[in-house]
Amino acid sequence: MSTIENVNCLIIGSGPAGYTAAIYAARADMKPVMYQGMQPGGQLTTTNEVENFPGYPDGVTGPEMMIQLEAQAKRFNTDIRFGFVNKVDFSGSIHKCWTEDGKEIHANTVIISTGASAKYLGLESEQKYLKLGGGVSACAVCDGFFYRGQETVIVGAGDSACEEAHYLSKLCTKVTMLVRRDEFRASKIMADRVKNTPNIEILYNTDTLEVLGDGQVVTGVHVKNSKTGEEKTISCTGFFVAIGHQPNTEIFKDFIDLDETGYIKYAQPGTSKTNVAGVFVAGDAADKTYRQAITAAGTGCMAALDAERYLSALGH
Ligand code: NDP
Repeated sequence: MSTIENVNCLIIGSGPAGYTAAIYAARADMKPVMYQGMQPGGQLTTTNEVENFPGYPDGVTGPEMMIQLEAQAKRFNTDIRFGFVNKVDFSGSIHKCWTEDGKEIHANTVIISTGASAKYLGLESEQKYLKLGGGVSACAVCDGFFYRGQETVIVGAGDSACEEAHYLSKLCTKVTMLVRRDEFRASKIMADRVKNTPNIEILYNTDTLEVLGDGQVVTGVHVKNSKTGEEKTISCTGFFVAIGHQPNTEIFKDFIDLDETGYIKYAQPGTSKTNVAGVFVAGDAADKTYRQAITAAGTGCMAALDAERYLSALGH
C-alpha cells in the first residue's frame, strides 16, 4: 500500500519562479518541498549569457544562475527532489498530487512554477529527426556545439530566434534564418544584430515544407517562398526551431482555469492566486507577456507570500 506524505507547501517546477518561491517559503518556515520537474533549472539552463538580471553587472550564464538559486534554496533547507508531478486532484481542501513514481502527496498549499516548453513546427520529418537526435533542436545553446564549422538553418523571427541565430553564427560557417512574414517580431536591437552579422542569411516570407535527411541525420531543408511560390533546398546539418513556447499546464486543466492558449489565469489580478484556494502560480506558466527570469522570480516571491498568508489565515 502506498503511503501518503503530508506537505505544507509543495512547489512544482524549478526555474527562477520555483527557486524564488522556495527561498521565501523556506525562510518563512513553511518547510517547502520542491519537485524539480523534467528540466531541473528550467529554461534558463538552455540559455547562454544572461545580461539583464539585476545584480550581475558582468552577466552570468543561465546554468550558473540556476546552480546559485538552487544553492540559496537549499541553504534554508528546501527539500529539493529530482522527479516530477504528473497528476493532481484539487477538488478538495487538501490538494492531492502524484509523482511519476506513484508517490501521493497531500499539500496544504501548492505553488505551480512549471514554466513553458519549446514549440515545434509539427512536421513529420522534423519530429522524425528530433526523435533520432539527428540534427533537429530547439536549443542552439545546448546543441550548437555539435554543428561547429557546419551550415545550419533556424526558423523563427522573435527575440529567441535572433539570440540563437547570433549564437550559432559564432560556431557555424553559415546560418540561414527562415522568417515566415516579411518582418521580424523581435525587438529592433536583436533583429539588427542578426541583420548585421555577415554569415547570417535571412529569408523572408519563407515556410519550411520538409526537413530532409538520409534516414539518420539532417542534410537539408526544403522551403517555399509564400509570396513568389518559389521552392528550394538549403543544405544544412542542423535545423533549429525557435518559434515560441507552450505553457506546461496540461496536468492542471481539469481544476485550474486556463486561458485559450493554456496559460494559467490569475483569479485576482495583482496576486498569485488561481481559482483554487491554496493553489498559487508563478512564472511562465501564467505569463505569456514578459517571460523574463526577473519577472518569474518576482512572481515566485509573490506566490510564497500569498501561500504564507493563506496558511496563517487557516491558523497554521
Ligand atoms: P515569440 O512568440 O516572441 O516569437 C515566435 C516567433 O516564431 C515569431 O516570429 C513567429 O512568427 C515565429 N513562428 C511561430 N510559429 C511559427 C511557425 N509555425 N513557423 C514559422 N515561424 C513561426 O517567441 P520567442 O521565444 O522569440 O520570445 C518569447 C518572449 O521572450 C518574447 O517576449 C521575447 O521578447 C522574450 N525574449 C527576450 C529575450 C531577451 O530580451 N534577451 C531573449 C529571448 C526571448 P510571427 O512573428 O510571424 O508570429
